[in-house]
Amino acid sequence: MQYKVVLLPGDGIGPEIIGETARLLQVVVAQAGHAILFDERLIGGCSIDRYGEPLTDETLADCLSADAVLLGAVGGPKWDDPTAKVRPEQGLLRLRKEMQVFANLRPVVVHPALAHISPLKPEKLVGVDILVLRELTGGLYFGQPKGVIRNNGSLRAVDTLEYADYEIRRILHLAFQLARGRRFKVTSVDKANVLESSRLWRQIASEVSRDYPDVTLEHMLVDTASMRLIADPASFDVLVTENMFGDILTDEASVLAGSMGMLPSASLGEGRRGLYEPIHGSAPDIAGQGVANPIGAMLSAALMLRYSLNLPDQAAGVERAVNQAITEGCRTRDLGGNLSTQQLADEILYRLPGGHFLGL
Ligand code: NAD
Repeated sequence: MQYKVVLLPGDGIGPEIIGETARLLQVVVAQAGHAILFDERLIGGCSIDRYGEPLTDETLADCLSADAVLLGAVGGPKWDDPTAKVRPEQGLLRLRKEMQVFANLRPVVVHPALAHISPLKPEKLVGVDILVLRELTGGLYFGQPKGVIRNNGSLRAVDTLEYADYEIRRILHLAFQLARGRRFKVTSVDKANVLESSRLWRQIASEVSRDYPDVTLEHMLVDTASMRLIADPASFDVLVTENMFGDILTDEASVLAGSMGMLPSASLGEGRRGLYEPIHGSAPDIAGQGVANPIGAMLSAALMLRYSLNLPDQAAGVERAVNQAITEGCRTRDLGGNLSTQQLADEILYRLPGGHFLGL
């Protein structure tokens, strides 16, 4: 089998972490007896500098013909002018839209050896292993009408929160299927006491749950969920919610792990093709220093192995190698250590199955 993966390192620390992650993927896929072909392209600020746009049609076409896309991060002070017509994140939004990835998956696992760098008390973090699914292509961010209306000298702004039944159904099915590979529990988060769209969300969640009698469904209001994520995060297994609630809750959940540099994400659509990226940004404050933590990108590659390349054993091998490296004290600066990006990557590669033969 030969896989094609498009690499979009992007800006800031993107090239540093994606370079190390491509090295890891190459080793892991080869060890599984397959080949991986990388196509590296520009996205974000560096693409604006080179082509005048954050994502060219050619790059997009390449992504749409690949098995998976691995992205670093986009943006930075150089392109931060909010009034600019062309902005780095437009490239990312267009890519997500064209790839039709409607579900953003963010696993949040707190490694016991890192519990002390989390803002929560270590005893609250025991057993935290949450998979947050955020609906990515509907809701308030895309609903029409949207805009500012001028009327008799006053201004009114309108956003529309709208969901079609099929948009809710497909992400709920994914949530239940993923829960079957975990602890068999789905928490569906909404605001059904106030919003019509949430009442439809809740109704469809209940309907879909009938196809999965082995999985427990709980409905939770978004305000309760935001408190529960801090008060009792270990009580969640799979948490699924609409776009804006998910935008907020995923960032809240990510704080539990202590460093932005640790957490991966996957964005999936109907088929196997997916977009994989660490949750952090381009970290301009440390870019070019070789100290960025590559773990968020490497765990994103593990999700790619599992969901797009159908190599679940290799995915688990990467996750075990990362866990072991952390347990044995390997740390970049954000985790309180002094390893460089490349040194931490070497430590992780060494702990892959057969990794000690790599001569690192
Ligand atoms: P950020 O995630 O880039 O950085 C926040 C803090 O976390 C910084 O102190 C940074 O040094 C640290 N950090 C982040 N990733 C790290 C890693 N892998 N290793 C070690 N430390 C790490 O967020 P920000 O500073 O708010 O944004 C910087 C730029 O990134 C902005 O232009 C923003 O628009 C962009 N951004 C892009 C994405 C994306 O591409 N998906 C997401 C968020 C922010």
